[in-house]
Amino acid sequence: MSQASENPEIPGRSWSCWTYALLGLLPFGGTIALTDLSLPTRLLAVLAVGLGFALAIKAVFKAIAEQQQIAREARDEAEMLREQARHDPLTGLANRIGFDLLLAQMAMDLLPEEKLLLLLIDLRGFKQTNEMLGHPVGDEVLRTVAKRMVQSAPEGAALGRLAGDEFMLAVPVPARGQAEAIVTQMGEAIAKPMRVDGHRIVSQACLGAALLPDDAETPDKLIVASDLALHHAKASRQGIARFFNRAMTREVARKKEMESDLRTALQRDELAIYFQPIIDLGTGRIRAFEALARWFHAEKGEIHPAQFIPVAEESGLIVALGNWVTAEAARIAAGWPAEVTLCVNLSPVQIVAPGSALGILSALNEAGLDPARLELEVTEALFAQGDQDASAFMHTLARHGVRFALDDFGTGYSSVRHLHLYPFRTLKVDRSLVSGPGSNARSDTVIRAMAEMGQTLGMNVVAEGLETIEQVRAMKAAGCTLGQGWHFSRAVPDYTAMLMLADEAERLAEGDLWNPRQLAS
Ligand code: C2E
Ligand code: CA
Ligand code: CA
Repeated sequence: MSQASENPEIPGRSWSCWTYALLGLLPFGGTIALTDLSLPTRLLAVLAVGLGFALAIKAVFKAIAEQQQIAREARDEAEMLREQARHDPLTGLANRIGFDLLLAQMAMDLLPEEKLLLLLIDLRGFKQTNEMLGHPVGDEVLRTVAKRMVQSAPEGAALGRLAGDEFMLAVPVPARGQAEAIVTQMGEAIAKPMRVDGHRIVSQACLGAALLPDDAETPDKLIVASDLALHHAKASRQGIARFFNRAMTREVARKKEMESDLRTALQRDELAIYFQPIIDLGTGRIRAFEALARWFHAEKGEIHPAQFIPVAEESGLIVALGNWVTAEAARIAAGWPAEVTLCVNLSPVQIVAPGSALGILSALNEAGLDPARLELEVTEALFAQGDQDASAFMHTLARHGVRFALDDFGTGYSSVRHLHLYPFRTLKVDRSLVSGPGSNARSDTVIRAMAEMGQTLGMNVVAEGLETIEQVRAMKAAGCTLGQGWHFSRAVPDYTAMLMLADEAERLAEGDLWNPRQLAS
């Protein structure tokens, strides 16, 4: 929209200029009619014509100048709007549109001996900061990060903020070595603690980098490559930097294939649920079964949950898979003795899905399983997405009697705060501490402390991954109340689980000691 139409004065003024011009031309007509008048009169007429002509010329020039001014103003305004459209108002850095343009320009200007580094930066835990400390604090964190990027970026770098907490940097470099140094430097600059509104905040960053032309031929593909590298950096769970490599593309292809296989498997009922008993270390009796998904692929054989669960989580398929596991496992558990609990693993993605809590309650209702017999196992990854969704979900279900276990304790952030804030009944000490390669005398002390804390809070403490009788004894001595692992039994099909329960009942009636290992071959 041009400014001329918004400013009523300007068209008015130009009208008057054109009127002047026409008035200036009027005497011409008069001159023709007055040719037979006296000399002074003629002179006067000529003078009038001259004056009119001069006035007309002046008016025309003025009109032209004004038109030019209008055009200039319109151009400036358009340029300003274009500038605004390319910038992020919060940080002053380029936005996605602006950054794409800069990147395309840099790729075009790249000298044959240079490489173009594209670095994508994602702030870890920003959403949490934003939710817990408020948006003004979140905004200030983003501004501070932007400022630090400006200060530590090499000369000639283009900087941008995509959306939320994603930043980017592009700069031509002579070689990969320089690119690596820049990535390290940016990561360090961002990770320095900052103080905002009295809070000490550490913004760890995940960084994904790629180089043109080494890793991609076009700016678009360069973005895809850096994004992949960033994805890998995020998946590593520590705030670190990753450079793109070709294996990442293969990995994506593999995951895509697995995702489509999994979709088919869900439709064709190729998945099964196995149950692993959780044993009371005091009495030796089965207290619960953990439902674990199993996938037997027609051609590829068994695919492990450690492979397909992350793919299901990334693709969102976990919602359908998880709903199926809960409903099916609840239906099976309804046939067990009333004192046996069903444990089901729940991914963070499932919890944020709309209607998740109600979905679980209606599955229990349909299966005829008392909500108090269900224990949902969640990990601390749940709280990384912000506490609000998790809190609403857990408290809704807890009101109906559903219990919660904190799974894989000792691997993540392991914050005692979560144990206080949420209705956890059980703490599951991670296998890596119990029997993993990293477990040692020190882990025993850590487990002892965890068990003590759990018991003080009135919780059950489960030692996972018990493979030997020595580990069972050690964990019992350390204060764990429950145990799970291959020493007792692997995860078994539902009919075997049922047999274990029947066998236990029989042996108990006979006053015999039960040994579940016999059934779990
Ligand atoms: P998790 O929840 O920590 O489950 C325990 C895992 O440890 C299971 O692996 C189990 O088979 C294995 N395990 C049990 N005892 C021992 C032992 O003595 N030694 C060793 N080395 N391993 C033992 P699995 O079934 O492969 O599951 C891996 C992970 O996949 C599970 O870890 C859980 O996080 C996830 N998962 C499995 N099924 C589901 C599901 O239905 N939904 C969701 N969301 N996640 C699932
Ligand atoms: Ca579990
Ligand atoms: Ca676990």
